[in-house]
Amino acid sequence: MEKPYVFITRKVPEETVKPLEDIATVHMWSSEEEPVPPDVLLEEAKHADALYTMLSERIDDSLLEQADNLKVIANLAVGYDNIDISAATKRGIAVCNTPDILSDTTADLTFSLLMATARRIVEAAQYIKNDQWKNWSPLLMAGTDIHHKTIGIVGMGRIGSAVAKRATGFDMEILYHNRSRKREVEDQLGATYASFDQLIQKSDYVVCLAPLTDETRDMFNQETFSKMKSSAIFINASRGQVVDETALYEALSNQVIAAAGLDVFREEPIASDHPLLGLDNVVALPHIGSASLETRYGMANLASRNIAAVLSGRTPEAIVNDSVLTS
Ligand code: NAP
Repeated sequence: MEKPYVFITRKVPEETVKPLEDIATVHMWSSEEEPVPPDVLLEEAKHADALYTMLSERIDDSLLEQADNLKVIANLAVGYDNIDISAATKRGIAVCNTPDILSDTTADLTFSLLMATARRIVEAAQYIKNDQWKNWSPLLMAGTDIHHKTIGIVGMGRIGSAVAKRATGFDMEILYHNRSRKREVEDQLGATYASFDQLIQKSDYVVCLAPLTDETRDMFNQETFSKMKSSAIFINASRGQVVDETALYEALSNQVIAAAGLDVFREEPIASDHPLLGLDNVVALPHIGSASLETRYGMANLASRNIAAVLSGRTPEAIVNDSVLTS
């Protein structure tokens, strides 16, 4: 019998694909950095049994319409806003992701970004490298304290809870907002549930870790920033589209809020001349939340196992639309 065909949309470590090669014919896009062109992806999708995708690929209804053999899409991410889940579900295509394995790593990065923004680490490092450090002075590169401040986490899920755990080590007061209360973070981490408005008004650090959905798109806009403290620092490690970037730029330039740490942007990669990148009070990172070697290998292994499971008729470890398994 012919082996199923798997198309991987980016070069991933060979050793993480080996187990898949035992059961399938695997073809990998040749570049680690350049995304597969949409027309190539479409041609591959037309005869693939499995697609192993990155966030940069848009898997929409029109592509799925032509993917007659497709049984599973395995995204190398916990978020899946690049995939039309209902279009996949109505065709019985399983959509898999990589939750949990990246939570601590992404929380480490989110908290580092918060610290770097508050204590002006990037600006200070650049200052010394530019040979600008001539004298010690009392307020040289003075930032803002982190300890004993209030952190407000919007999206207290797996990663949000891991960020809250880190915040307890800094004696921070923790507020959180989800659509539903989460008793375990209240009991275990002393977090307090707040409405979205209460959270943004009271927090010194507003940290977004909610997924991108129709509800969260543009959730941080001119009105939201105007309600924050003028000393507030905004950290976004979820998805760029939750933020109106023009409103953020205006809020940062006009001292409506103090600073922002951003790991994600509406357009990725962000253009080098984007106004946000010209601001000293912005720390910008190229979407590296889960980018440690250990975690990226772990995610790649999980994506391969998810595909192998679906193609072998087993339940995958991480599936977004498990209704397709019973239908
Ligand atoms: P998760 O466990 O599903 O947590 C998401 C949380 O957001 C849930 O607690 C959910 O609670 C809350 N939420 C959903 N819709 C909301 C809304 N409209 N308003 C307020 N809260 C809402 O997901 P996770 O594993 O922590 O990942 C979270 C997100 O982080 C991912 O979706 C992805 O976008 C992002 N991420 C980024 C990176 C990076 O590299 N920067 C890496 C990994 C993940 P309720 O359902 O009760 O509302």
